[in-house]
Amino acid sequence: MNAIELTKKLIGYNTVSPNSNVEVMDFLTETLESIGCEVERVEYNDPAGALKVNLIGRKGPNSSQRGLGLLGHIDTVPAIGWSDDPYEARIVDGKMYGRGSCDMKGSVACMIETASRFNTADLHAPLYVVITADEEVGYFGATAVAEKSKTFNEHGFPQYGVVGEPTELKAVYAHKGAVRFSVTAYGRAAHSSTGEGDNANLKLIPFLSEMRDIYEELMSDPQYYNAEFTPPYTDWNITLSDGECTANITSPRSVCNINYRPMPGDDIQYWIDRGRNAAEKYGLEFDLFINAGPVRTPPDAEIIKAALEITGDTKPHTVAYGTDAAEFAKHMETVIIGPGSISQAHTVDEWMAIDQFEKGTDIFCQFVDRFCIS
Ligand SMILES: [Zn+2]
Repeated sequence: MNAIELTKKLIGYNTVSPNSNVEVMDFLTETLESIGCEVERVEYNDPAGALKVNLIGRKGPNSSQRGLGLLGHIDTVPAIGWSDDPYEARIVDGKMYGRGSCDMKGSVACMIETASRFNTADLHAPLYVVITADEEVGYFGATAVAEKSKTFNEHGFPQYGVVGEPTELKAVYAHKGAVRFSVTAYGRAAHSSTGEGDNANLKLIPFLSEMRDIYEELMSDPQYYNAEFTPPYTDWNITLSDGECTANITSPRSVCNINYRPMPGDDIQYWIDRGRNAAEKYGLEFDLFINAGPVRTPPDAEIIKAALEITGDTKPHTVAYGTDAAEFAKHMETVIIGPGSISQAHTVDEWMAIDQFEKGTDIFCQFVDRFCIS
């Protein structure tokens, strides 16, 4: 199995998060079976009704050891404004271009090449390759795997997990969480000259003022800072939409979305409740749709120590973005490490450097050597 060739094929499937991923997961089921994995499919319908498949490939013995999971996602963010077809991989000047090349089809391909290099008979503890849906929109695939997998129910979760998000192959022990809620005001559209409308934006304004106060509190009070992270504060990012209502119509509907990134030790519920209570006070609709906590594996945990030995780094790192570790780290000792750079993820003309494929596969293989062989 060759990770570069496999990545090219994976980029050919449009797996933007809202799409059903059945086709690519059928292909990956065959791929995992062809390298000697038993494969479980964990399926669910997303809130819009699209069928989502998650895969758990398992290779190795039925032993009391719980082994290692290589953990990736197949969904991508949308591709708008690309100079070429985002779903046709191209290699130019040592870079592979295509949506998902970096985040994280390239890494998933490295995991599969890694699993292909080991014979089942040589594994003393099981090796898993887990491929999820809906990472980019709230870790829903990882949550479904954790809740519904028969494999993990029967054998237990792997003891150790490697979440292969792009970290330039540096070991990451902690990241911020992701909380997202929307607050909606309803009014009535009318020509603004008639006096008969009801402007939804006006209803939102007092709520927005309180959200700005929370933002300023979180940015200015050092008790909410965490020096392990860059930046050391959360975001309380406020976005607004009234559907681009034109200025001579009273806005019938106005929505505020807030994104909050909790850090380890934060009282997440307190901040959610402040948003909810403010919404209720002004008669607005409140909808919490992502609530994923932060991740922090102790820097002296086995998996982090192993990652430092493998990479030759002196200390593990933190990142500000979230990953499926938000779910998986509840069940296994987890490190986040993978090929590619987050600065190329989600970009127009996303790419991954070609040398990252071999380096990524090599590092994943060293984790397998450590936790499944010796
Ligand atoms: Zn990702």
